Amino acid sequence: MTVVSSPAALEASFDVLVVGAGHAGTEAAVAAARAGATVGLVTSALETIGQMSCNPAIGGVAKGTVVREVDALGGLMGRATDLAMLQFRMLNQGKGPAVWAPRAQCDRGLYRRAVRTLLEQHAAIHTIQGTVAQLLLDGERVAGLETLEGRRFGARAVVLTTGTFGRGKLHIGTSTQIAGGRAGESANTHLGEQLDAAGLTTLRFKTGTPPRIDGRSVHYAGLQLQPSEVEEHDWSWSHFWDTPRRFGDHTRHPEQLPCWITFLEGDGKALITTHLHESAMYGGAIASQGPRYCPSVEDKIVKFPDAVRHQLFLEPEGHDTTELYVNGLSTSLPAPVQLAVLRTVPGLHDVRVTRAGYAIEYDYYPPTQLDTTLQSRAIAGLWFAGQVNGTTGYEEAAGQGIVAGLNAARWVHEREPVILGRETSYLGVLVDDLVTRGVDEPYRLFTSRSEFRLTVRQDNALSRLSPIGAALSLYDARELACIEARAAAVRDARAVAERENITPAQADPLLAGTGTAPLAHAVRIAEVVKRQGVTLPALFRAAGVGAELPVDAVISAELELKYASYLEKERKAADRLHALGGLRLPAGFDYLGLRTLSMEARQKLTARRPETMAQAASIPGVTPSDLQNLVIELERRRRVGAAG
Ligand SMILES: Cc1cc2nc3c(=O)[nH]c(=O)nc-3n(C[C@H](O)[C@H](O)[C@H](O)COP(=O)(O)OP(=O)(O)OC[C@H]3O[C@@H](n4cnc5c(N)ncnc54)[C@H](O)[C@@H]3O)c2cc1C
Repeated sequence: MTVVSSPAALEASFDVLVVGAGHAGTEAAVAAARAGATVGLVTSALETIGQMSCNPAIGGVAKGTVVREVDALGGLMGRATDLAMLQFRMLNQGKGPAVWAPRAQCDRGLYRRAVRTLLEQHAAIHTIQGTVAQLLLDGERVAGLETLEGRRFGARAVVLTTGTFGRGKLHIGTSTQIAGGRAGESANTHLGEQLDAAGLTTLRFKTGTPPRIDGRSVHYAGLQLQPSEVEEHDWSWSHFWDTPRRFGDHTRHPEQLPCWITFLEGDGKALITTHLHESAMYGGAIASQGPRYCPSVEDKIVKFPDAVRHQLFLEPEGHDTTELYVNGLSTSLPAPVQLAVLRTVPGLHDVRVTRAGYAIEYDYYPPTQLDTTLQSRAIAGLWFAGQVNGTTGYEEAAGQGIVAGLNAARWVHEREPVILGRETSYLGVLVDDLVTRGVDEPYRLFTSRSEFRLTVRQDNALSRLSPIGAALSLYDARELACIEARAAAVRDARAVAERENITPAQADPLLAGTGTAPLAHAVRIAEVVKRQGVTLPALFRAAGVGAELPVDAVISAELELKYASYLEKERKAADRLHALGGLRLPAGFDYLGLRTLSMEARQKLTARRPETMAQAASIPGVTPSDLQNLVIELERRRRVGAAG
């Protein structure tokens, strides 16, 4: 371990140093700065700040809600997506609002530049180019870092967000292996060695990416075109005050571009089957676990042998390039096989490959080694966020970045930690799942991971989280005004719906399309909107009311009205969890000696050491009756303590 020899050797000192400027690192830096810290953001190349390693897409199921939550706490991801997106879709609109999912395809270069621009608007953040070689320690606590270039910086807290770069190894086929953190970028080995020596457990995961192709070599005739949905949604609430959205306002973002749909069919499938043994993943070159929900094309062929064809999306990489991302064809087959497979696909028989697909293996640190703020239990002042914690995805990384950055800043200033509950946010679910359950495959969020998915929605992230952000003084005066304006707009939309009637003549053409009965007489809009398939914006338009209200606020009001009884149930469950879940468990509690608990619960509680009752409740194998007995024991000890 390196001990700081002389403070004079430090080039500069910060409250918080962040290592890596991917999605976790940039958010951690901004969150720490908003929380009042001075921040040094050290990353291997300033040009790759905000770089998307794989698909230039943000959002999707559950992930879209995380982007909104990151945004509600003042993060960058939603703001950068608004500036960079070239295609938008609201997924799952046919299903309930709990699973509505905004997803955007971004211009990769524009996104990177947007992140850097937004980041540099924070005066407290200093961006530094450098590859971190080691942490500087003062006894058991972090004191700064040193880069490969020999620059030393001091800090009271360090947030590590080095993504897939920890001893990263790229695989293309079974015989090509390249050390790297991502194609064309060096892996990072020194830090891993130091953390191993400090006794941290390190494991390996893998992930993969498809080839990219030159759009000029594609024959588009016959391919199915998928246009951007005409969207009425912003990703970020921060534009709200400047120019609130009205119905039919689609002018905020860069020019929208389409995607194309094609298919991997019989010939391509046969080629993959023939060459399967040459795939890094199936030929034995990679043993580590990959993301089950982002399968490689090899996985699809093996696991779904009866599927006639597999859908592929050709997605534009940006306005400034003809390159296309072949979504659905993640692979670690040898490059010549990749080309041959692509040329079997309709529209791609003359295709030129710009970049080969590959798989990558990398280090991660099992997150059960962290506390609920994502701070290492082994090294004080060291936080971990993003892919290093065994997650996958830009959004999961960004969410952890916010939690780690905020808490690192608060720890430095000796303030109470911020722990977001599962009932408050997907960020709460994410962090709680990671630190209490750990991961056995790259972790991604799903709506099914949340017990409160009707209340924890993408449209209401601001109302859920802005009271927390305001209490932590994360916003400036202009932002506070935006938040209040948005809350007022939702209240107004609700009030209009509860006050105004809609007549049969106005409503019936609309209701006819939904298969519900026509109105017999004028009815309150708030009642009609409860019918399936009927939306509040449509009712407002038909009744000629609420035209002045921003569309996002009207949609939030609609969901609150439509699902009022379900929401009430979830709120009661959340209150119960809150009352019980906040109960803190003593650090050295002797669970093994607690014979009223099952042996499984005793062992798991001893291994996981939950800090609160809510965390104990989320450990698989710890039953409600175990929890009840634990509460009884805590209460007994409290009485004994009080008597003593
Ligand atoms: C090939 C590939 C395919 C992927 N496919 C998918 C997918 O299909 N679906 C999905 O959801 N996710 C996928 N991902 C994962 C996704 O890219 C990550 O989840 C996300 O980028 C993680 O963000 P992060 O901030 O944790 O790390 P990253 O985005 O990896 O950022 C890490 C940052 O740390 C910097 N850095 C590293 N080491 C050092 C050091 N020692 N000193 C200074 N700076 C350093 C890097 O330069 C970089 O800026 C893929 C990733 C890769 C590489």
